[in-house]
Amino acid sequence: MLLGMAIDAGRHVRHKTRAEWGIGKVEGTNGESVFVRFGDQLKTIKISFAEEFLQIVTADELVASKPAERAGPAVGRTALCPECGKALTRNANGEWRACPHCV
Ligand SMILES: [Zn+2]
Repeated sequence: MLLGMAIDAGRHVRHKTRAEWGIGKVEGTNGESVFVRFGDQLKTIKISFAEEFLQIVTADELVASKPAERAGPAVGRTALCPECGKALTRNANGEWRACPHCV
């Protein structure tokens, strides 16, 4: 499933009503939710909400941003299934797999 505004892995985004989160980096999607890292926190956002509340940050904006606002390293972190709370795993491309318990 493709998102209308192309919120896909590697994009930098900002949450429209959570400006204090700063700039986040999209780590992937499992088809129903988008995983976005804001600093040390990985947020799980339903795709329908992501389309409404996430705003793409352009390359120019990113360069102009403070380093502290930028997303941290994306490797070795975990995410939990929004439905059952079990840990998700990544595929060979580093994208989150769909939850095996909820598929
Ligand atoms: Zn699940």
